[in-house]
Formats: sequence, structure tokens, C-alpha cells
Amino acid sequence: MPADDFLKLLDAAQQHLDEGFAHLPANPAPPLDESASAILHQVAGRLQDNYPYAHPLYAGQMLKPPHPIARAAYALAMSVNPNNHALDGGRASSAMEIEAVAALAKMFHWPQHLGHLSSGGTFANLEALWVAGQLAPGKAIAASDQAHYTHSRISSVLGLPFLTTPSDERGRMDLHALERLLETQNIGTVVVTLGTTAIGSVDPLDQVLALQKKFNFRIHVDAAYGGYFTLASNLSPETRAAFDAIPHADSIVIDPHKHGLQPYGCGSILFRDPAVGRFYKHDSPYTYFSSKDLHLGEISLECSRAGASAVALWATQQLLPYTPGGAFAQGLEASHTAALELHRRLTESTHFHTPSSPPQLDIVFWAVNAPTPEASSALAQSIFDEAAKNDLHLALAKLPVRFFPHNTWQDTPPNDTEDKVICLRSVLMKPEHLLWLDHLWKRLQAAAVHQVPSIPR
Ligand SMILES: *Cc1c(COP(=O)(O)O)cnc(C)c1O
Repeated sequence: MPADDFLKLLDAAQQHLDEGFAHLPANPAPPLDESASAILHQVAGRLQDNYPYAHPLYAGQMLKPPHPIARAAYALAMSVNPNNHALDGGRASSAMEIEAVAALAKMFHWPQHLGHLSSGGTFANLEALWVAGQLAPGKAIAASDQAHYTHSRISSVLGLPFLTTPSDERGRMDLHALERLLETQNIGTVVVTLGTTAIGSVDPLDQVLALQKKFNFRIHVDAAYGGYFTLASNLSPETRAAFDAIPHADSIVIDPHKHGLQPYGCGSILFRDPAVGRFYKHDSPYTYFSSKDLHLGEISLECSRAGASAVALWATQQLLPYTPGGAFAQGLEASHTAALELHRRLTESTHFHTPSSPPQLDIVFWAVNAPTPEASSALAQSIFDEAAKNDLHLALAKLPVRFFPHNTWQDTPPNDTEDKVICLRSVLMKPEHLLWLDHLWKRLQAAAVHQVPSIPR
């Protein structure tokens, strides 16, 4: 949206909002004079020291620009600056938060839930594991070696034992290893990641559920990154099966600030059993007096929370509802298609090595053709630099060589499948990435062609 239209739209809505308070005696805001303008220009100058995250040629880390309606709604809410801790601090935005969280629960086909927004996925996961620890004190948390690093740290904060299960050659939780762990250890909760942060692999939640029948444990789904893909109609059958099992999980984390077009500061936690609300029970000597209705602070570990985050999410959901086949779902489908197409081109290219199976979501990784993992790593670094000079921004990731077919480094096979190789990685999160794929591909080819020997085929 052109900046002009954005500001016009915002200005009109701001006037509408201000009308609600027009009967009050005037109390003008501090003026913004020339020194303020100079400071803002300084800020503009300094912010140029960033990669162009909003542009499709930025195809590196997990960064997706907020939708303009989220920016506008957030800005509008900032003139009120509500606090969703208690109804005293944000009545309207608390109501919008409850509706926005219900839309998330509905997307996962949960008939009932207890949940709220949080500052991000880390805090949302902390609440999930905290509740898990309350229900099964002293029992361990288990997660795969590809789970987000936050789980082991959170477990340590909560004083809960933490155990790692290995992942298979596709980065998914290894079920045999999990079963062995369940047989011998005192596991209270298994963290199942639907969309790992490194490569977007999807743990087989449906099969973990089958194990739950044999061993009694709680299932927490960390879908901070991948949760919204449940709306995509083009996932592979095994990936679909994992997402379709979500209704049976005990808790789920999803970050609207990852794939949900929101500014940072917007994660969420949902519990399937609303009765876990009892663990949050506390009194606040300062708040909760204005209404007997639920104050979100009564079911959240964080106290102050940005009401503006809830307003922005609510507004985005009105424009782009979570309906299968709708515009929002199509955006996720386009990202997955873009990832499959990039993977296909990389596999056909003589410059690169690819993992044997295609990406489950929208994260692609590949190694550079060279005789050894060390040489591949060095070339990945130089292609990363060369591409950036040409405005193509990728990411690098150090990944186990077992993610590649056994004969990839044929001449000098790594001794240990846990050996690592630095790979190029691309998160194709933006719906536009599909349309831009030829541009990305040309620039990647240009960055590789002078540096990488071709693989004879
Ligand atoms: C990003 C991510 C997190 C952490 O969430 P933040 O919002 O960055 O705090 C946790 N788990 C997974 C799978 C993630 O991708």
C-alpha cells in the first residue's frame, strides 16, 4: 500500500476514535518540533542498517512483514495504549484478544479452550511447560534434538528434568528412540514440534498420539512457526496427518508474529482443557476490581501485555480470516509451493546437494557441491556473501550431514553422521516468494557459478 493511502486511512480512523473522547477538556499532546523531526531523520538513517526484510529478495531468516492493516490497527491502538492485564486497562482490546484467540482455537478445531496472547513463542512455551509441571510435578519433559532450544532452557528455569530424543534423517522426532525413552524414563510431557525452526520438519504427531495410548504422557505441540500451515491444502499426506492430529494435543503454541502477519510481540498459548486455569489463580491487590468478568491477567503469567497486539491481530483476522481456501490460506500454500519448486531446481542443479526429501513446509536448505563437508561449508559462506552483494539475502545453517543422502560426500565420507556442514537456507515465508522465484534463482545461480565446480552427472 502506498504510504499516502496508509496515512490517510489511519488518519480517518484516528479521527473516528478521537470522537469518542471529544467531550473531555482539551489536553494536547506535547508538540513535535524541529528537534523531533531531526531525531526522526536520525532514526530513519540508522534503520537503513538492516537487511530489506520486507522485500521478496530477502529470503533468509524467518522474517515476514506485518500486514499494513496490522500496522494501522496497532498504530491506532497506540493512541489509547491499552494494557490487556486487566479490564481496567483495556476493556475493548481484552474483548478483541478473547475473540482473536478463539479464532486460533477454531482454526485447530478445538471445541473449547483456555488461552491468551503472549509476548512471543518463548513465553507461551514457558506457560505450557509450567502447566505441564504443575500437573505432573518432577516428571521430565522430552523433545527432539531439532526442537527449539528454548525448551531445555525453560525446563531448567522450571526445575523440570529435560531429555532429548534424536531426530531421523529428515529432522523429525525418531519414534523408536522416543518409545525407548518412554519405556525407561519418567516422561511427563512430550514436546512435538510442527515446523522446526531450522528446516521446517514436522514431527509425526499422529504417531506420537498412538504412543500416548500405551504410555501415559501429556502432549505439547510447539507450532510457533508452523501452526498456520494447518490451513494449507497442499501439504504432503504425512505432514497433513500430523496437523490433523492437533485436536488431540493438550496444549499448543502458535506465534502470530511468525506467519500471522503481526508485528513482534505476538505469540499465543492454547490449552485444550480450560480447567488448567486453576493453576493461574492469584489475587492482584491493584486490579481486577472493575469487573467480575475474566481479566486476562488472571489466566496469564505475564502481567502487563500490549493491548495493541490483540487489536492488530483481531483487525488482520477480519480482513484475512482463517478459512481454508481463503486468501490467507492461499498465501501459505504459495509459500509451500515456492519451497518445493526451489528444492526441485536445486536438486537438478549441478552446483548443489539437496536432502533426499522435499521440504515439508516453506524452509529450504541445501549444501554446495565440494569434495568434503568442510569445503562445502566454506563455499556456502562465500555464496551467501556473493548473493548479498547482489541483493539476494539468504541464511546459513549448520546442520548434520545425516540430513543428506549417504553418498553425498562420497570421496571422504564423514566418520560420524552427527558431523555438521554449513548449508544455505531460505525461508520462503512471503506469499510473493512464488512469483519472485525466478529472480531469486537467477541471483543464486550468478552467485554460485564462478565459485562452485559442477557435479558431473
Ligand atoms: C520461533 C520459535 C520459538 C520461539 O518463539 P519466539 O516468538 O521467538 O519467542 C519456539 N519454537 C519454535 C518452533 C519456533 O520456531
